[in-house]
Amino acid sequence: MEQAALILIKPDGLKKSLTGNILTRLSETKLEIVAAKMARVSRQLAEEHYKHLKDKPFFPEIIRYIQGELHNRHKVLALIYWGEDAIAKCRELAGATNPEEAEPTSIRGSYGRITTAGVYENVIHVSSNIEEAEREIKLWFQPGEVIVNLYPTKEVVKKEVKAKEWT
Ligand code: UDP
Ligand code: MG
Repeated sequence: MEQAALILIKPDGLKKSLTGNILTRLSETKLEIVAAKMARVSRQLAEEHYKHLKDKPFFPEIIRYIQGELHNRHKVLALIYWGEDAIAKCRELAGATNPEEAEPTSIRGSYGRITTAGVYENVIHVSSNIEEAEREIKLWFQPGEVIVNLYPTKEVVKKEVKAKEWT
């Protein structure tokens, strides 16, 4: 089944200069990239993204992690991969959540680490199922930033919206 997956190259992936390597690995899937951008991660976005983990003891640390506080890189590279079994294919290449348990040749197995504070710094996020992918994609991207129509949209007329333009 054709589906979409949200991928984030997390702040440690950016700091370790792994963007090229990770994208090369993901290109093995032959999936299509239908959106990509650098994104700042507000606390609100971070907490919404990881809301299913709100009650976990490591929640405050992973919020700091995804916001870039642990690496002094306050951004992530966000992409949407689209195609046949996109989620399973990307998760397979990413490897297990715990980088020490991940297949050594997987992205997380190759580049991840566990900090002394116990955070899994695993360089990449991949949506875990179709429902989560839709929820996450709608959180990270506006419809106009995606070059295919993934989900139903509606047209709205916006008045008096402050925006920046090139001078
Ligand atoms: N995480 C962690 N310790 C844990 C579980 C998760 O540090 O025991 C971090 C890790 O960076 C992981 C993220 O929290 O990628 C989200 O956890 P999730 O269970 O959703 O794993 P994922 O879907 O990223 O494999
Ligand atoms: Mg997850």
